[in-house]
Amino acid sequence: MLNYSNLFSEVTKRTKASVIRELLKLTAKPEIISFAGGLPDPKEFPVEDVKKMFDIILNKYSSAALQYGATEGCASLKTALCKWLKDVEDIDVADNQMLITSASQQALDMVARIFINPGDRIIVATPTYLGALQSFQTAGADIKGADSDDDGVIPESLEKCLEQTKEEGKQCKFVYLVPDFQNPTGVTIPQERRLKILETAKKYNTVIVEDSPYRQVRFEGEAPKTFYNLDKGQGNVITLFTFSKIFVPGFRLGYIIANEEVIRKFVVLKQAMDLCSPSILQLATAEYINGGYLEKHIKRVVEVYRKKRTAMLAALEKYMPEGVKWTRPEGGLFLWVTLPKYLDTEKMFPSAIENNVAYVVGSAFYYDGKTKNDMRLNFSYATPEEIDEGIKRLALAVKKNLK
Ligand code: PMP
Repeated sequence: MLNYSNLFSEVTKRTKASVIRELLKLTAKPEIISFAGGLPDPKEFPVEDVKKMFDIILNKYSSAALQYGATEGCASLKTALCKWLKDVEDIDVADNQMLITSASQQALDMVARIFINPGDRIIVATPTYLGALQSFQTAGADIKGADSDDDGVIPESLEKCLEQTKEEGKQCKFVYLVPDFQNPTGVTIPQERRLKILETAKKYNTVIVEDSPYRQVRFEGEAPKTFYNLDKGQGNVITLFTFSKIFVPGFRLGYIIANEEVIRKFVVLKQAMDLCSPSILQLATAEYINGGYLEKHIKRVVEVYRKKRTAMLAALEKYMPEGVKWTRPEGGLFLWVTLPKYLDTEKMFPSAIENNVAYVVGSAFYYDGKTKNDMRLNFSYATPEEIDEGIKRLALAVKKNLK
């Protein structure tokens, strides 16, 4: 037998399996109510409209829809997105400041490859999105975490990390943030705090990577401006958006906006990675936006997820024992439950599975894996009735483990 271990690269050796993807296998039994995945509700996928879009674009573009496309992305989608960003976010971007990606996970992998040499310092919020940690760790980043509170990452803690990095004679390559309805906590950074964070990043000559898949899934309250918008085109922010949560994740489509010089680097890297994202899906998505379907679809899913979020908050209130805390997100797909310090959600996981309910252990979202008493709950997938039953089961597991 060939010994592959001598052949694998250093990158392959340090790539760790995603805890969530491994856990999801455990939670696939039909009797389990799972709050573990991050899946949008498939019942809301606009199947009939997607069929219609394919029909329209295959008639309109014929075989061109099935051809390779430009690495930068299809012109019709980019034009639709520039208009969308102006209308919805008041963001001005030119065509050469945007790249269509195979959704945000590809964009995160590209961010890692473009900026990180092994050992380079980056700063993330703690906790943060597991998939981003996976990409950054694969690239060999030296990750430091800034603390968060109920308003997201704390500017003073970020500044402390940046100052420490400077004292070590290093430059932080980027600060990675999920500012809107963060995965995993559901928390949004208020505008005043965003301005402070942006100023701090500028002071230390680093860039903010703003990853915002959930921004449009807002149930209530007013949206703070994006970091991209607050930066007023000065080039201190790279923003990642995706269609996964507002349209369909199966298209694997997203986009990056940044200054022209940075986008050019992303384009050249994407040439080497996959040449281009699928033309047919980009054209169908452009048609979906231009026909006004996207706007209507977002309104619909927001309504559905709002009800589910409210059902989860009510169930937590009803069933959870004293000493358990949770966030109250104004949008997105997740909320974050914090148990008393002495409890360990990894150790508690088997008793949850025994009770036929699943969550994601909070430690997966900490770059050092050290904090053990949190869990992430997804509320977009289960029905409101399942949410009530699932939280009841979860509360039983928590009570069983309480001192
Ligand atoms: N960033 C964040 C914060 C996410 O939560 C996710 C998906 N769960 C992604 C990026 C990746 O999403 P996609 O590749 O489907 O766009």
